[in-house]
Amino acid sequence: MIKIEGLYKSFDNLKVLKEINLEINKGEVVVIIGPSGTGKSTLLRCINYLEEPDEGMIDIGDLKVNIEEMTKYDIHKLRRKTSMVFQTYNLFKNKTALENIIEALVVVKKMNKEEAKEIGLNILEQIGLSDKRDSYPSQLSGGQKQRIGIGRAMAMNPEVMLFDEPTSSLDPELVGEVLEVIKSLAKEDMTMLIVTHEMGFANEAADRIVFMDNGRIVEQDTPKKIFNNPQNPRTMQFLETVL
Ligand code: ADP
Ligand code: MG
Repeated sequence: MIKIEGLYKSFDNLKVLKEINLEINKGEVVVIIGPSGTGKSTLLRCINYLEEPDEGMIDIGDLKVNIEEMTKYDIHKLRRKTSMVFQTYNLFKNKTALENIIEALVVVKKMNKEEAKEIGLNILEQIGLSDKRDSYPSQLSGGQKQRIGIGRAMAMNPEVMLFDEPTSSLDPELVGEVLEVIKSLAKEDMTMLIVTHEMGFANEAADRIVFMDNGRIVEQDTPKKIFNNPQNPRTMQFLETVL
């Protein structure tokens, strides 16, 4: 489904991603953990081309691209196949919950408003916010806003959803409801790549954990193996600091 090969990214002379190789199967939930400054966000941003990688191959479904030969059309296709949920939700303040979810359908996908609205209402139901369809962001809690952020990403019907620390700007009591929404997507076999510091969630929701350190994937395995029997000393050291 997704195959990343030999991906490199530098900012000036800071090498941030060093030969990243990663495969994700359809319906798989892969969680990336690792110290901060390690390149986790940069990896997600390279996958949907918010950052331009220096070299490597990215295959998603039927799209196979070599970064060095990438065309504008490839970039457009890559962005359509992926959607990103950010740490802060950046909702449109002057649009309702429903309007926020369907905005890109109408503007980017040029869908007619009725059709988009039907999709939006279905998504509101899935994320448990049907009663908030006409509320503005200022009338929603942080957890509700992030659920709308997830709904907005779902609306694009991506082949893979990328989450960059989706709960790290939330008050602790609001984290659970957002993680529940992500878990419900996992049950529906959504393919997801998630960066998180929530180790309990990682343990429960991930099919596979990828430990990144210093721009490389150091170790990857099932949550059970990573949490109970990590093989690499750096993984052990990291887990000691967070568990
Ligand atoms: P993580 O998400 O694991 O905390 P990041 O991918 O955000 O790590 O950052 C990895 C490294 O790249 C850090 O040293 C960070 O300062 C640097 N970096 C990230 N984005 C940029 C940028 N746009 N320009 C320059 N350096 C950046
Ligand atoms: Mg980050």
